[in-house]
Amino acid sequence: MTAFIDWHTHVWLPEHLGEFGRGLDVAGQELAHRCWSGEGSHDDHDLAMRRSGVDGFIVLGLCSRFLELDIPNDYIAEQVRRHPGRAVGVGSVDPNDPDALTELKRLRLELGLQGLKLSPPYQDFHPHSAEAWAIYELADQQEMFLLFHQGSVFHPKCSIENANPVLLDRVASAFPRMRIIICHCGQPWTNETVMLMARHPNVYTDISARLNRPWQLHTMLMNATDYRVTDKILFGSDFPVFQPDEARDQLLTLNQRLPGLPTVPDAVIDGILFERPFSLLGIDPAANH
Ligand SMILES: [Zn+2]
Repeated sequence: MTAFIDWHTHVWLPEHLGEFGRGLDVAGQELAHRCWSGEGSHDDHDLAMRRSGVDGFIVLGLCSRFLELDIPNDYIAEQVRRHPGRAVGVGSVDPNDPDALTELKRLRLELGLQGLKLSPPYQDFHPHSAEAWAIYELADQQEMFLLFHQGSVFHPKCSIENANPVLLDRVASAFPRMRIIICHCGQPWTNETVMLMARHPNVYTDISARLNRPWQLHTMLMNATDYRVTDKILFGSDFPVFQPDEARDQLLTLNQRLPGLPTVPDAVIDGILFERPFSLLGIDPAANH
């Protein structure tokens, strides 16, 4: 049975974005601009999911004290409740927040969010720090899956020193049953992301916001084919940055946009789009509460 799942969508209101929204107008980087200018309310999200014909989707949050970014976990949970059986919620806590563990328990046990989003570059922490480790331990106990924005960022206030996916090698080894999704192919370190998937059964990646970087995505897909890890690559639109159907069409036309390069097999592309059910990561949208 095929299913079109969008593994990377956001909801937010302009007032949630704080400094994050103000700092992203990077000259010449259209993607950075789209990132904060897109309409991401519950209603905008509903409309995009309905129009694109997705069968299921993940709704992501993110908070960062450092960037005054705060998409409330309650706002994520509310959207998940509006789509019973189709949506899975991923909340966020900031490792630099002394109340992070309390909030993590609340978002899991009271709000029913099944996943946790973290980002060393956006939240300004080292992935091996004691604060981060305590969060992994609790998330593992609660049988949550983790999404890491582990890759470069545009925001001028952020450093990318803690952003390399290789820093998750130790985390994936220490928590072998915790499923980890490295967002955006860990760009620009896509080879490193492929290697992590080859080394760790519990590491996956999503291709969100890579579809407008066809050269980089092509290299990543060819390397993943060589290493036989394409079945761990998940589709994501990064809504509201892209609409799911827009992102799907970008993937379907990838080979045409790169004439002269070796062709990414149709089976790989179709597999990413239609053969990555939630059950691949042991996730059940019916188990939100
Ligand atoms: Zn995103």
